Amino acid sequence: MAVLTLEHVTKAFTGSKKDVVAVDDVSIDIADGEFLVLVGPSGCGKTTVLRMIAGLEVPTDGEIRLDGKVINDESPKNRNIAMVFQNYALYPHMTVRENMRFGLEESADIPDAEMERKVRETAELLDIGELLDRKPKELSGGQQQRVALGRAIVRDPAVFLLDEPLSNLDAKLRAHMRTELQRIQEELRVTTVFVTHDQTEAMTMGDRIAVLSDGELQQIGTPLECYHTPANRFVAEFIGSPSMNFFEMEVQGSRLVSRAVGGRFEYHVSEQTRETIGDRAEVVLGVRPEDIIVSDDADGRHAFEAVVDVVEPMGNENNVYLTFDGENTNPETFIATVDGFKQISAGQPATVHIPEDAISIFDATTGETLRHRVLTGDLSVTLT
Ligand code: ADP
Ligand code: MG
Repeated sequence: MAVLTLEHVTKAFTGSKKDVVAVDDVSIDIADGEFLVLVGPSGCGKTTVLRMIAGLEVPTDGEIRLDGKVINDESPKNRNIAMVFQNYALYPHMTVRENMRFGLEESADIPDAEMERKVRETAELLDIGELLDRKPKELSGGQQQRVALGRAIVRDPAVFLLDEPLSNLDAKLRAHMRTELQRIQEELRVTTVFVTHDQTEAMTMGDRIAVLSDGELQQIGTPLECYHTPANRFVAEFIGSPSMNFFEMEVQGSRLVSRAVGGRFEYHVSEQTRETIGDRAEVVLGVRPEDIIVSDDADGRHAFEAVVDVVEPMGNENNVYLTFDGENTNPETFIATVDGFKQISAGQPATVHIPEDAISIFDATTGETLRHRVLTGDLSVTLT
């Protein structure tokens, strides 16, 4: 059992020039056995959150509780929490077995035979049972990463904290380790906080995602909730690749008029959408690349003339970069993803359809979501 609670947790670092609020009033409830992914760009405070949970930093304000007990001032040793760092330094002169035992010897007084059994079991779980007598330099990057994980797992902690553990691996191995880590966590059912700057890792691994920006929590929800019902423009932009397209629009009655390319992109909204805009003079219109339909059919509502700027073939699909006015320097270049077999080339004119069901609208100043795209599915499910 390990329920982890962060309540109004703040961490300020006092510097010689200016103070940095690395973590700003963050509250998160992490359920027993949950796999929570903390995601955000570099410098947003992710590592600081983990270090506070591990006991390596003391919060300036707020409470961290483990199963209801406040642990703010508990020493790292007494927390029964294991952290795996991005730079998983293994002891080079020790074998894999010794590296894994080291974590155990540090944390508990266990008979030798019992220790050997635990190391063996953990090594089997991680598929490194054959490597116990090797030294780190005789291992691949992926194998070293497994040993680092093993060193944490063998301690049988109440909580795992993983700080960008996959970022030193090559792309293929990273994808493989994503599923491996999920399998292991599912087997062990240990409450886990996994930190990453990579939205793909967040989407694919998390039971829930917590999105952090500039020390502040933006949203916490299932991957599908964050993707389809982002709380604000930041989340909408950060989650999803290629990113959502955004257009700055002036509100003129029920017409939204692009501030960059005026008459070339005017979007008429229904009364219902209009109501969510209220008396704002400006809004940001958002649409995901997969929701833009590129066709030769110029008819219909919400159809616009555009020009193909660049085509990026991905095989299964093409990322098509388009502009409304044929100028590739204007800020309203946008991306549509289309079927990989669709014949499309740079310089060609195209008609794009942007259905009203697919658009999101954000406040131009605060970035707050005023209207989500229309949805039919159930977002509370986690597809792992
Ligand atoms: P992330 O892990 O998301 O990249 P960090 O938690 O490492 O972000 O850092 C968040 C912010 O806090 C950054 O602006 C960083 O420079 C600052 N920071 C982190 N640790 C310290 C420290 N010990 N002293 C001063 N500033 C720090
Ligand atoms: Mg970090």
